[in-house]
Amino acid sequence: MPNRILRDWTDSIENRIKEIELLQKGMPKVKNGNPLQAVKFSLSSEKRRLKIRLSRLNGKSHTLNQAIKLINSVGGKCEICGKSNNPSIDHIIPISKGGHDGIENLRVLCVSCNAKKGGKHGQN
Ligand SMILES: [Zn+2]
Repeated sequence: MPNRILRDWTDSIENRIKEIELLQKGMPKVKNGNPLQAVKFSLSSEKRRLKIRLSRLNGKSHTLNQAIKLINSVGGKCEICGKSNNPSIDHIIPISKGGHDGIENLRVLCVSCNAKKGGKHGQN
């Protein structure tokens, strides 16, 4: 892909992320069940997807095969508690905190350890 196109694409994704962050800043804190929660949720999901896309454009991504190999390499066991119920792929440095989507930033966690980590939507 020509560099100029890559740069334009990266710029437009970064601009959308900035836009989302401005929208998020302007939103009041709401209680559970407030309809605004759905809007907040969709903005943060969109932001996360865009950050993963940026990471891929920067050459940091993993394939499904790499993820399967990673799970097999630890015997499907959680890298924190050692249990093997519902292994899932976790970003060591969360995408929301600037982590990338490359295989070096991934580990295997069970659903409950992943949730305890405090990541939003249990998919950090
Ligand atoms: Zn665990």
